[in-house]
Amino acid sequence: MSGDNKELSRRGFLKMGGAAAATAAVGAAAVPGSVLAAPMVVTGVKAALPKATGPRLVIVGGGTSGLTIAKYAKKEYPKFDVVLVEKRDMYSSCFSSNMWYAGVVDLDFLAGHSFLDAAVNNKYTYFNGAATGVDRAAKKLFTDEGEIDYDFLVVAPGIAYDYSRVGVKDIESITALRQMYPGGFISPTEHVTIRDKVAGFEGGTFLVTVPSGNYRCLPGPYERACMIATAFKKAKVKGKVVILDPNAKPTIKAEGFLNAFKEFYADVIEYKPNTKIEGIDAGKKTIKAEFDTIKFDDAAIYPGVRGSTLLETMGIVDPKSPQKEALIDPLKYNVVGDMHVYVTGDSRPQPFSKSANTSNTEAKYVAKVLAARAQGKDIDWYSPETICYRRRRLCL
Ligand SMILES: Cc1cc2nc3c(=O)[nH]c(=O)nc-3n(C[C@H](O)[C@H](O)[C@H](O)COP(=O)(O)OP(=O)(O)OC[C@H]3O[C@@H](n4cnc5c(N)ncnc54)[C@H](O)[C@@H]3O)c2cc1C
Repeated sequence: MSGDNKELSRRGFLKMGGAAAATAAVGAAAVPGSVLAAPMVVTGVKAALPKATGPRLVIVGGGTSGLTIAKYAKKEYPKFDVVLVEKRDMYSSCFSSNMWYAGVVDLDFLAGHSFLDAAVNNKYTYFNGAATGVDRAAKKLFTDEGEIDYDFLVVAPGIAYDYSRVGVKDIESITALRQMYPGGFISPTEHVTIRDKVAGFEGGTFLVTVPSGNYRCLPGPYERACMIATAFKKAKVKGKVVILDPNAKPTIKAEGFLNAFKEFYADVIEYKPNTKIEGIDAGKKTIKAEFDTIKFDDAAIYPGVRGSTLLETMGIVDPKSPQKEALIDPLKYNVVGDMHVYVTGDSRPQPFSKSANTSNTEAKYVAKVLAARAQGKDIDWYSPETICYRRRRLCL
């Protein structure tokens, strides 16, 4: 967005004042592809937080990336006054959720982890609220619970779905798909819905899709198919799991997954490579692929991935990025031209695998960058690890 537009929208906002302006600003930012950057929902109300005791580091997002940075930035530089802004009030893990569908782990294993305990254990403050915008010139974060002044801001809000990757662009169809056939790669509510679908499935075709592009958790869709197939086998359900994959073979551990489909699930899993989805009719339960129309009885449709829409709201998205990721220095993670705002985790533009392992190891590096910069220094770049692994409580 141009500087002129930014200035205009900020002045325009002040002139309009009140709810009308807030609605206009939020509405515009919610439109996919919008590049409107303006302070959102500016109320002038300060967040209920004690006065900062040192340079204030505010982190938006208490997922793998944000939680790890909160913990390690405080360790690296104890003078930091760290505030973690997270909209959820309970931590629940995305990773390992596939195993829940087959009863390999229970819900307690995934959910019910306290943000408060993580904050107390690691000497920072957990602030339960949703970030709604930023004024980078004034170094203020806006949240639905008031404004927070920062010295350094880390934005780690994860991903959003991109249904245009499966040929679905109108908001009615997107809403229907989101609710009826959730992707299961963002929120705990989606996992609960998918788990209930699997447990209640009475037979027929259960569809699982693999997105195109760089998506969160490369093995996730294949692993999910295996876990759902296991659940059907255990319950002796006459069901089939169909995997639609736009790629020629699984995007990771191809030999292992193809062997598993053949050896353990030949009667349950049907793997369809080179199947690009061009449209979905949620009501008719049909998928239009390049050469085929596929019917399903139930599904978990993982459409495609882009950076969180918060990046657009904040005006820090790269307009050239095909997956709408952040415009940052790829080595130091600060927003281009701004040494006070950083973007990490699955909203990053670097082509690393979007995994908890990447987010966790990257966050430890970014914590060092922040600690150094708070002291007027800098450190040399080193790469995160980018394997996809499973470990519980890696940062709580
Ligand atoms: C089913 C599944 C299986 C997976 N399996 C593995 C695996 O085996 N191994 C592995 O390494 N990785 C795995 N992953 C991937 C891993 O979970 C993600 O890559 C990782 O969590 C990304 O971390 P993140 O911090 O960027 O995003 P997230 O962990 O999604 O965290 C983002 C946080 O930001 C918060 N947030 C968003 N917007 C706002 C806002 N406006 N204000 C305040 N808070 C906000 C969200 O509530 C959320 O808590 C899996 C993921 C899924 C879904």
